[in-house]
Amino acid sequence: MARYTDPVCKLCRREGEKLFLKGERCFSPKCAIERRNYPPGPHGRSSQWRRSRESDFGKQLRAKQKARRVYGVLERQFRRYFKEALKSRGLTGLTMLQMLESRMDNVIYRMGFASSRAQARQLVSHGHFLVNGRRTDVPSMLIKEGDIIELREGSRKKTFFKELSDLAKARNAPEWVERDLKKFSGSIKRIPERSEIDANLNEQLIVEFYSR
Ligand code: SF4
Repeated sequence: MARYTDPVCKLCRREGEKLFLKGERCFSPKCAIERRNYPPGPHGRSSQWRRSRESDFGKQLRAKQKARRVYGVLERQFRRYFKEALKSRGLTGLTMLQMLESRMDNVIYRMGFASSRAQARQLVSHGHFLVNGRRTDVPSMLIKEGDIIELREGSRKKTFFKELSDLAKARNAPEWVERDLKKFSGSIKRIPERSEIDANLNEQLIVEFYSR
């Protein structure tokens, strides 16, 4: 499974805003955006002014890159989501976001069972979760309404998950998912509406980018 392996804080600095890719650190003063909110690289500071003068293409590209980075999806797979959404009857941009939200790693993150999508992805890859009773190690698997996600019996006893349980209790889950914190399990009640998905993402610009 291909994945991004460079320092992720650079991605936030490139987009000029917090993308919340590192869990608890993102809420601490150690966050790179709090300390160095300018693009990475030797010309980072001097290139700051360019952000306000971006071309239409530049804006579309940044919108696409931001969404891709938020969900931790590489280009080829992201484009595949767009093509799938294009075939659907609904609004292409919204359908694409709903597919991204339905990814197993994202659903686990939304349930509060991981501090970031990257951590959720790793937990899934290591086979800690079951979907409808079957061990699944594919973070990109799309979870449907009614599918039950649960932590494996063997994993529940691990100290790591006991600590994670405290984290989960401290985090609210969105209305479209339901969860059982004692059993470390949950499901999707319904597909999220646009108002329940990150308002900072601009799906219209993403559609324009791929429609060029
Ligand atoms: Fe982004 Fe989190 Fe790093 Fe801050 S700590 S720059 S929000 S990934």
